Amino acid sequence: MRVDVVSIFPEYFAPLDLSLIGRARANGVLQLAVHDLRTWTHDVHRTVDDTPYGGGPGMVMRPEPWGAALDALAPAEAPPPRLLVPSPAGVPFTQAMAYELAAESHLLFACGRYEGIDQRVLEHAATRMPVTEVSLGDYVLFGGEVAVLVMVEAVTRLLPGVLGNAGSLDEESHAHGLLEAPIYTKPPSWRGHDVPEVLRSGDHGKIARWRREEGLLRTAARRPDLLAALPADRLDKRDIAA
Ligand code: SAM
Repeated sequence: MRVDVVSIFPEYFAPLDLSLIGRARANGVLQLAVHDLRTWTHDVHRTVDDTPYGGGPGMVMRPEPWGAALDALAPAEAPPPRLLVPSPAGVPFTQAMAYELAAESHLLFACGRYEGIDQRVLEHAATRMPVTEVSLGDYVLFGGEVAVLVMVEAVTRLLPGVLGNAGSLDEESHAHGLLEAPIYTKPPSWRGHDVPEVLRSGDHGKIARWRREEGLLRTAARRPDLLAALPADRLDKRDIAA
């Protein structure tokens, strides 16, 4: 997968050289390039922002550098990438969206700063490529860089060959609309707290049932919205009894 990121703070992306993402980049599964938006400015101050039309506090990112950056990274003659623009006013980023993005061949992330990017940049881009404004959650960050780090990590771990054991993707939180059950390792007893007996029983059927029920209980307690959204056919009779 090819990923391009445009930001006025390319240094933010240094962690993408580390750990499994670094390895995915080294072995070519992820071809990631970070670009400085100021490359596409032409004045001596390398200006990327200006005051908002209509008044109000803060500054808005000017369209010209963004337009030139998108023209360079998504040229008309090439297959268009999917443009993702982090914004607290975007649609929520979810594991389902991470799977959707992992199936794309080219993602282009545009990191806003200040009050965000002039909306015409997105309107114009949408005439040439799919554009999605994406929110990480119901809070406001300084800029899109942290949101892009999160999205690139969530997507990269879904790419074939990145995780040592792809089976873990099937058993984790959000894989099937539920949260994962609590997990434990050795020793069996620690500071007076014991690992649940069933997990040491060796009975795989009982362990699977216990995990399912604990996942359901956790989801009901912490994220009733997820449980409410679960299609009825994802629950079996034993789930309903539990
Ligand atoms: N004026 C914007 C608003 O009220 O919707 C907030 C701008 S915010 C200070 C600056 C930039 O941070 C945004 O353009 C976006 O790139 C990023 N950002 C802030 N919060 C975010 C969130 N919850 N999810 C994704 N990106 C966010």
